[in-house]
Amino acid sequence: FDGENFPHSKELRKVFHTVFGLREFRHNQLQAINAALLGHDCFILMPTGGGKSLCYQLPGLVARGVSVIVSPLRALIQDQVQRLIAFDIPAAHLSGEMDTGQANTVYSQLYQRDPGVKLLYVTPEKLSASDKLLSSLESLFRRQMLNRFVIDEAHCVSQWGHDFRPDYKKLNVLRTKFPGVPVMALTATATPRVRRDIIHQLAMKEPKWFMQSFNRPNLKYSVKPKKPSNATADVTEMIKSNFKHDCGIIYCLSRKECDTVAEQLKKSGIEAESYHAGLSDSERNRVQDRWLNGDKCQVICATIAFGMGIDKADVRFVIHYSLPKSVEGYYQEAGRAGRDGMLAHCILLYTYSDVRRLRSMIERDQCATYESKRVHINNLFRMVHYCENVADCRRSQVLHYFGEHHFDREHCNVVPGALCDNCKSKDLFIVRDVTEDAKEIVKCVRELTSGRRSDYTLLHFVEIFKGSQNTRIMDLGHNKLALHGRGTAYSRGDAERLLHRLVIEEILAEELRTTAADTTACYIMLGSKAADLMHDKIKVQMAVQGGRKQ
Ligand code: ADP
Repeated sequence: FDGENFPHSKELRKVFHTVFGLREFRHNQLQAINAALLGHDCFILMPTGGGKSLCYQLPGLVARGVSVIVSPLRALIQDQVQRLIAFDIPAAHLSGEMDTGQANTVYSQLYQRDPGVKLLYVTPEKLSASDKLLSSLESLFRRQMLNRFVIDEAHCVSQWGHDFRPDYKKLNVLRTKFPGVPVMALTATATPRVRRDIIHQLAMKEPKWFMQSFNRPNLKYSVKPKKPSNATADVTEMIKSNFKHDCGIIYCLSRKECDTVAEQLKKSGIEAESYHAGLSDSERNRVQDRWLNGDKCQVICATIAFGMGIDKADVRFVIHYSLPKSVEGYYQEAGRAGRDGMLAHCILLYTYSDVRRLRSMIERDQCATYESKRVHINNLFRMVHYCENVADCRRSQVLHYFGEHHFDREHCNVVPGALCDNCKSKDLFIVRDVTEDAKEIVKCVRELTSGRRSDYTLLHFVEIFKGSQNTRIMDLGHNKLALHGRGTAYSRGDAERLLHRLVIEEILAEELRTTAADTTACYIMLGSKAADLMHDKIKVQMAVQGGRKQ
């Protein structure tokens, strides 16, 4: 699809230059546009900021009829449509919140012989709930004026992804109701499994693939231990010493956390604002505009609702104050840094207690099914694995998650300064086979929990393993257990990481229980893979401190 000799090529170039005012196509854009114009189903995977929109906007304008774009967020849609109209591009949107008058204007344009709209944006809810919209699409279809369906943020269709939306699942009706109308799926994040699922759910036919490496060479990834009582002070210090005049985002888990972090930063003289779904539309717009314009707002403390579709090129740092829910989510959020291609920092503050917070949120979700909880927990555990894996290059780990298995860690610092923390400290750790230690831990857990409810936390087993003689251990007589003191050679951090590892590998399990004081506590039990370990079907390898000092 590289060529310039398609019937539409001349027109395409003209619209590209005159309407969009652009000069050169970016990687894969022209190829994807050509494939779309030839009527193929297309699957476009490009990193955020790669220029996905053009891949459907341009063919939408050149081809006959109307392209229908399904996009998950109303705010995003409005923003896009406003931008297009400012370029004199005949775009419109339909969403649940519009008043009838506005919606009727759009419908009447769709029924015109030559429809006055070329790019029609809709939310998936609207598409599945509005008969009026479906009738107008059927009319376009009969008149051969329904050009293409574009599914933006297509990973939302898959429940294996990090952002599954049930309304996206209903999009499979498009294929049955409108046979032969090409489909284009676009996403910035999809694992091989999610990709297969998207194709299946949308019943795409032999799609043409346009994939790009997920590597963002200018992003420096690092994970730092988070001391919950001191985290805001650490972040303040980090910003003051490294990012004094730089613009950044701090992702927090809850609205309250956004507010308190922003408040603390302000008290320390950093221009920070809080941004989350609890603010009114006008308040959110005000914060967003000030941040975009660098107007007395250097740092934004936001929940993950912030950033979708926001295009600020010079974000120099993204700090995750809390653990992201999945590697996909992390990649997406961290990826809002450094869109200008210059060095930018992605710093994740990690503590295992955040894992428990997230887990209890997942488990308490009354609307979720057993399967979806499993998917969320799985995604979370992959994220924990990323944080706790101090041996492998962070960049390779992220790319591996997206199915790119051949990234060579030698290329981690192609952009000067972007070497990840693990590559920087790779000589400090050595990878050891710790299967025998893991087996001893499993034996001890079995001994202390068989036939009864577990009353021991992960840290209690760390204490035993390390040979602690604290009062509880002595009172319980756990200093007499075979495991006691087996791990004295481990640093405290390594011992904890080993236990965490056994949990996320499902060799052990943590049972969440609400205590009398209404707090959640976690108790260790055997996991579903314990027997596999004991029967030598799996091995456990881990990087531990003790390599060459730098
Ligand atoms: P994505 O949807 O992949 O995150 P967008 O479609 O929003 O990315 O594009 C990101 C930015 O890149 C936009 O500001 C867009 O105008 C710009 N852009 C897209 N294609 C080109 C191009 N060929 N040349 C220059 N700028 C482009």
